[in-house]
Amino acid sequence: MTTPDGFGADAATAQPPWGFPQSGALPMPETLPLPAALAHLAGGPRYWLPEQPDQATAAVAPAAVSPATAPPAVTPPTAPTAPTAPPTSPPSGFDVEAVRRDFPQLHREVNGRPLVWLDNGATTLKPRQVVEAVGEHYAMGSSNVHRGAHTLAKQATQVYEEGRQAAAELLGTPDQGEIVFVRGTTEAVNLVAQSWGRSNLGVGDEILVSAAEHHSNLVPWQLIAAERRARIRPIPLLPDGQLDQDAYRDLLGSRTRMVALTHASNVLGTVPPVAEMTALAHRYGAKVMVDGAQAVSHFPVDVTALDADFYAFSGHKIFAPTGIGVLFGKRELLEAMPPWQGGGNMIDSVGFEETTYAPIPHRLEAGTGHIAGVAGLRAALQYLAALDREAATAYEEQLTAYAMGMLATVPGLRLIGTAPGKIGVLTFLLAGADPMALAGALDQQGIAVRAGHHCAQPALAAFGLQAAVRASLALYNTVEDVNTLVAALQDVQARSAPTAG
Ligand code: PMP
Repeated sequence: MTTPDGFGADAATAQPPWGFPQSGALPMPETLPLPAALAHLAGGPRYWLPEQPDQATAAVAPAAVSPATAPPAVTPPTAPTAPTAPPTSPPSGFDVEAVRRDFPQLHREVNGRPLVWLDNGATTLKPRQVVEAVGEHYAMGSSNVHRGAHTLAKQATQVYEEGRQAAAELLGTPDQGEIVFVRGTTEAVNLVAQSWGRSNLGVGDEILVSAAEHHSNLVPWQLIAAERRARIRPIPLLPDGQLDQDAYRDLLGSRTRMVALTHASNVLGTVPPVAEMTALAHRYGAKVMVDGAQAVSHFPVDVTALDADFYAFSGHKIFAPTGIGVLFGKRELLEAMPPWQGGGNMIDSVGFEETTYAPIPHRLEAGTGHIAGVAGLRAALQYLAALDREAATAYEEQLTAYAMGMLATVPGLRLIGTAPGKIGVLTFLLAGADPMALAGALDQQGIAVRAGHHCAQPALAAFGLQAAVRASLALYNTVEDVNTLVAALQDVQARSAPTAG
């Protein structure tokens, strides 16, 4: 079934309690076929080709795109074909080209086209400084940390602890003991849920979780809630993607122990008023776990100003390697938390009669950490600190406004999440287009976007959706990137127009 605006309707999509009434039905993408006009775009090779394949890679790489099978060049974006607000002027005041020169991957081709990386919500690209720091650790500085009297152990330990210091500075705490290295945001939330949660949650206690959360700030709470017989209560969304503050105030109560809040939604782009919500939670004696995975690379964060109890981020979303992340916790909370994993590095003394533990943060860091990852994280945070972050944030804000204006010119495009002050996460549907097929078609043009549920199924469900396409910006994206995306979408739309009616 297709609604007058071209979007499919599905009666099976009942609104969840944290959702809101829809003015018009939104599509259930799984039920929509790939429009014939898209099929030719999606038919090309699936894998990227190195820019200059050498002997070794040429042997395994798929055949080059021949002119006959290459997707047609897209036309530049045309004037708006639908009545929309005019795009804001292109951003200025930030030397994006200088930044771009530091990111080698931005200068490669994919499917015969210059790469347009708009999948920053999934992971960010790495500047050469980060790649070099990781390479240098493995090539010349390999050693374990915090043990051994030799020179390389001392050097590795110094880099490791400087990484901790850089993370403390990024988050605005003067206390490095409050910085725990973890694998990423997911592990950080699991640590808090398993350690703090197990010793602080009881029968009937309540954990408020915003409906905008990534699964990693929801499922760990569900696991511990089931164990402790506590209850999860969703904070609902408003139609533009903001958190419903009236509902939040109503949900808070004497049973509230924890509030799980994103600092920037990975699917809606919403930046909730975390400081205000935290102050409210504290009035009820509740703690607040802030998921900063999407926030830290987009705007400066200050956990002291937020008064956050816990704050997590993943290195790979802030230009650092995968497998390393940070949990901030207030000292008094971390000190009161029991170890969640046991092993080396986290003990003071071990005996069969009694084992005592190291002070924080080491007590919560069992086993050998991701030392090369910390070297890369340190390099990434140093790289970021050397930029004018205010100018970078302003640039991203302007680029986001420009992108939203430009996307609004694409006929049949529907943006999900329009909260004021949102980050450059642009989740959308295109009338008549299956999100996965659309992402595949864009990939053939060298444009990397993500399609699916974005690990935030409740957030999409609040909009009656199971999947959508997401283009997510970073500080190295440009007006040209946005124009290329918009041109490709217009192209897809133009090709499908004759079959749509
Ligand atoms: N929270 C948010 C908002 C995210 O976007 C992500 C990653 N998509 C995560 C948490 C999980 O991060 P990681 O997989 O690095 O642990």
